[in-house]
Amino acid sequence: MPYSLTTVLYIAASILFILSLSGLSQQETARRGNLFGIIGMAIAIVATMLGTGTTGDANLSDSGYMMLLISVLPGVLIGAVMAARVAMTSMPELVAILHSFVGAAAVLVGLASFLDPNANHADVVHNVEVYIGVFIGAITFTGSVIAFLKLRGSIGGKPLMLPARHLLNLAMVGACVYFGYEFLTVHGAEGLTPLLIMTGIACVIGIHMVMAIGGADMPVVVSMLNSYSGWAAAAAGFMLSNDLLIITGALVGSSGAILSYIMCKAMNRSFLSVILGGFGSDGGAPAAKGKKIEGEITEFNVDEAVALLKGSKNIVVVPGYGMAVAQAQHSLSEVTKILRKSGANFRFAIHPVAGRLPGHMNVLLAEANVPYDIVLEMEEINEDFPETDAVFVIGANDIVNPSALDDPASPIAGMPVLEVWKAKTVVVMKRGRGTGYAGVDNPLFYKENTRMLFGDAKKNVDAILGKLRD
Ligand code: NDP
Repeated sequence: MPYSLTTVLYIAASILFILSLSGLSQQETARRGNLFGIIGMAIAIVATMLGTGTTGDANLSDSGYMMLLISVLPGVLIGAVMAARVAMTSMPELVAILHSFVGAAAVLVGLASFLDPNANHADVVHNVEVYIGVFIGAITFTGSVIAFLKLRGSIGGKPLMLPARHLLNLAMVGACVYFGYEFLTVHGAEGLTPLLIMTGIACVIGIHMVMAIGGADMPVVVSMLNSYSGWAAAAAGFMLSNDLLIITGALVGSSGAILSYIMCKAMNRSFLSVILGGFGSDGGAPAAKGKKIEGEITEFNVDEAVALLKGSKNIVVVPGYGMAVAQAQHSLSEVTKILRKSGANFRFAIHPVAGRLPGHMNVLLAEANVPYDIVLEMEEINEDFPETDAVFVIGANDIVNPSALDDPASPIAGMPVLEVWKAKTVVVMKRGRGTGYAGVDNPLFYKENTRMLFGDAKKNVDAILGKLRD
């Protein structure tokens, strides 16, 4: 394929990626955005395979195509099977491990392009690209593997607080700068030693950085690693002189950075304090700190919940991670239809970090065909709770915890939450008295206007649906 045609296809793919991002920013246009992304990626893959070689100067040989097919086909199959099989609750782990692949790819591309027998080791600009690409790639790789293990629960969410950990980070970054100087000043293949030493140090930085981050900051970590993986891909694009990879990497890197900023705002945290770590305790553990909770739990049953729903004009549902685990969204969508038909003002309140993935709840509700216009963000609905008759909290916990606002000693103090306790009655649907991801006890359960409807969210929503239909 002529070089000019490859360029035209690369530009078309880039435009489709930009349209995809803009489509994905709103629920109504998300499907279209996804389609643009798929078409853009298909064009990008075909143009890269049929176009000029990675250096832009030669077409791939037959054996090159064979190598490409042998490596790409199993990848396509494994990816398709994994994506088809993954449960919505395991999505964050999948995303984290995919980020680690991008990091590993950037490291391998960097090392390969340095070891290339035709490499020009006197080209300082290329050497800088290799060094920075491998550095970002190694941090992304190990950081994402640790995030994967934390999200999976294989290692605890408790932050690792080593003594003098900031000094340790500083020393490691300083060492990487020193070896960078060595790498750029030695000649020829001798640069491999400082490059490999830096790779090892950057791997340790990635592990240490994510190990030090507390459970409650994991949403920011997921989006931060998303951003890093974009920059790692862009660095690989520079090393391979592939314009499309640079553009795509920059798009992922910058949109991930914007998402991290939004998540930081949602948690009321600065980006620096997230990186410095330690927010939130071990996921699922009983609260270690914070005020002692007083009051009694009042239990509710399905009949009482149905009576409350029938007698309420303004109803708000707050979905959380437990709704995703129980897969209660489809039955909930049916309940929504019935109550809206009977004239109730029925709406959903979405916290920015609800679930385990940015936009997790929006995806589930869209999948269950809940109309977009009744799904509201936290800042759009938080002031409406005092005029709300009934709030149903379904499998959510941390995002409705009042101690975030009124207990400065709480591990999640300062995080904005949905102020559901201001409504007339709050019904909390969960299986038991367990804590949420941040491992913090929730005084909401003990408030006078709170009723606990214990049990699996799907079973209880199904029971409510059955009685409403009767
Ligand atoms: P939480 O993890 O705080 O609470 C979920 C609750 O759901 C649990 O307390 C659990 O209680 C209940 N639950 C679990 N399974 C079921 C079930 N089958 N039926 C009914 N209830 C169930 O979730 P939230 O959505 O409130 O908050 C999200 C948390 O996750 C925040 O701390 C956030 O920081 C963190 N996080 C968010 C990410 C994101 O990007 N959105 C990424 C990583 C972490 P019980 O066991 O008693 O049933």
